[in-house]
Amino acid sequence: MGRESTWYGGTVTAGAEPESVLLPGHDVPLGRYTTVRRLLPQRPRRMVGAWCFVDHFGPDDVADRPGMQIPPHPHTGLQTVTWLAEGEIAHRDSLGSTQSIVPGQLNLMTSGHGIAHSEQSPPAHPPVMHGLQLWVALPEAARHGEPRFEHHADLPQVSAGDARFTVVVGEYGSVRSPARMASPIVGVEVGVDGAGPIGLTLRDDFEYALLAMSGQARVDGVELAPGGLLYLGEGRSSTTVDTAGPARLFLLGGEPFDEPLVMWWNFVARNHDELVAARDDWSAGRRFGTVTGCVDPPLPAPEMPITRIKARDRHGRTVA
Ligand code: MN
Repeated sequence: MGRESTWYGGTVTAGAEPESVLLPGHDVPLGRYTTVRRLLPQRPRRMVGAWCFVDHFGPDDVADRPGMQIPPHPHTGLQTVTWLAEGEIAHRDSLGSTQSIVPGQLNLMTSGHGIAHSEQSPPAHPPVMHGLQLWVALPEAARHGEPRFEHHADLPQVSAGDARFTVVVGEYGSVRSPARMASPIVGVEVGVDGAGPIGLTLRDDFEYALLAMSGQARVDGVELAPGGLLYLGEGRSSTTVDTAGPARLFLLGGEPFDEPLVMWWNFVARNHDELVAARDDWSAGRRFGTVTGCVDPPLPAPEMPITRIKARDRHGRTVA
């Protein structure tokens, strides 16, 4: 597929074929009761568009357990996207927002310069927890802005054959999510009822990745199952996904994000000194505000590494 140009009356392909690279995730404990599969960042692939952090949790049996219990903690420089297949999470933040989220709904928190929140399954919760916790890096023009919180209970959907596309953020096909994003980006849940090929409509100026929340899919001869992230690269205007049966997939995409980043704990910034300032502000009770209505004490910031954290571009290359 590559980019084609006419040369002496013939057609040459400039640039490589779009990549298909399966990136295996790894398990990370989160809070006291939850283990997640971290799919981004990874060493060879730190971002997909402005998506800079992808955690897939569950399905976990939480019938006799507390479910997700993440006490108040700060964020800067990013948006959090919470998306559930099963379960319930109560969000509280330092703006005073209190919002329960259930499957099919979007909680979108934009940290701007700084916000704090807690995420906790209520005492009486559904027996299974299953979802995605995603971060989107804010570009320079938006990262110093005011924090805000949005809840979207009704997201637009389009159907094609056996597949249902729920547009969580950005635009897909003819429909657009109401979520306020700061860079060209898309996030779509693809629900498939049966076996068969599913056509995905893509933009050739975006890069994409696909993950399986449940079920399996085959793309470009690569088998995708829960626990892996299939990076699809740039330069595609469509692709075909073959499923063997019912599946719940999630498509992440966006314009390649060109700003080098540092990521540490819950912060996305541009250099080590900004991380130190954010950590100091949280520890001193500045900048991020207070989450009210959460009985658990705020999380203390971990110690920073002794060496300075270097900014990296989206390919993982350090920047002087
Ligand atoms: Mn958080």
